[in-house]
Amino acid sequence: MRIAVISVHGCPLLTAGAREAGGMNVYIATLSRELGARGIEVDIFSRWHDPEVSEIEELAPNVRVIHLEASGRQFLSKDAIYPHLAQFQAGVLAFERSEGRGYDLIHSHYWLSGLVGLGLQRAWQTPHVAMFHTLGAVKNQARAGEHESDLRIESEQQIIGQADAVVVASPQEETRLERLYAHAQGKIRVIPCGVDTDTFRPLEMAEARRHLGLNGERILLFVGRPDPLKGLEILIGAASLLEHPKGVRVLVVGGEGDQSDSAYQPIHALAHTLDISEQVSFTGAVSQQQLPYYYSAADVCVVPSYYESFGLVALEAMACGTPVVASRVGGLQTTVRDGETGFLIPWHCPEPFAERLDLLLVNETLRQSLGEAAHAAAQAYRWPAVADSVLELCDELIAHRRGSVL
Ligand code: UDP
Repeated sequence: MRIAVISVHGCPLLTAGAREAGGMNVYIATLSRELGARGIEVDIFSRWHDPEVSEIEELAPNVRVIHLEASGRQFLSKDAIYPHLAQFQAGVLAFERSEGRGYDLIHSHYWLSGLVGLGLQRAWQTPHVAMFHTLGAVKNQARAGEHESDLRIESEQQIIGQADAVVVASPQEETRLERLYAHAQGKIRVIPCGVDTDTFRPLEMAEARRHLGLNGERILLFVGRPDPLKGLEILIGAASLLEHPKGVRVLVVGGEGDQSDSAYQPIHALAHTLDISEQVSFTGAVSQQQLPYYYSAADVCVVPSYYESFGLVALEAMACGTPVVASRVGGLQTTVRDGETGFLIPWHCPEPFAERLDLLLVNETLRQSLGEAAHAAAQAYRWPAVADSVLELCDELIAHRRGSVL
């Protein structure tokens, strides 16, 4: 089987946690590696985002990243990419012609890539699986201040109407998609995201802290892109409301890391106002290989997001045996089991987060037992099982297409 993965703005070579790279980049890289290891050839088509990278990069056995020009070779925010999609699509078609080998299936990620996927699906007469990762209409409802364009929402609607299947990572996302978009029934497949349990595993807390040069403070960990949807201000507020705020550190992993990172300016200002600046540290983006040290060093991982279609960070923390206190939104409602593997908070405000964090910080036995249950629950999301489900869908669509052509 040969799969063309379309990820116009989400190159899997980008460092997750910085700029716009996050769960989608990790998902594409890990799923492709898993498929490649099974002998499936995967070409990931992505925008040339850095003049230093080559046109073709080998990501893993059988997996290549193909960089195509769409308005130069420098980084471009995803908001600026739409006018260059036709050039990108022409590049994919030209590459396929130049190699003289076709693809059995197209797998597109995010609405921009979904539009390219529709063009390729027509040109190649090949089945197309779309995955949005986030949906514009859901984002607009998640938090005041989000303004996803009509163009995005109409494009998502068009992709849902024309693609052969739409993968969503949680039953909650399926419900939202069906409610907010037409013609989705019968096309949706719920396949959760996975976690690499070889990389994300429990390490001894003291050793993880030594490795990171951390002292004996209690650590509340936040991991994610610097995006207002992640609700970091809720954690900062909660940290200031703790019963014993002294001796507690909020560790923010992701972003640029220095004080000048403009995305975090409101967070710095809030921490200053609440007089806890000294207790908040920003590490910048950290590699997947280093992250298990952070999860294992933490007392609790906090995910105060307004919207998560799945929420890989929560699952990674769980796989490392760290309890999660998360907003009760999207896929977090499936991965985090309230009172068993962590706590789910139905309100987007600091007080209930502080209440649960206090509970975990004073009760070591509870913290440990939730952590153990979290580790056990995460094992259900190992990548081989996720890849099996994706492959099953691909096989089904390819067989269906061949059947209808014969
Ligand atoms: N991540 C990372 N380094 C960082 C911050 C985040 O590798 O410094 C990764 C994290 O491990 C996770 C992904 O980025 O795999 C974030 O995924 P999630 O689903 O939580 O959020 P999204 O980015 O999709 O909104």
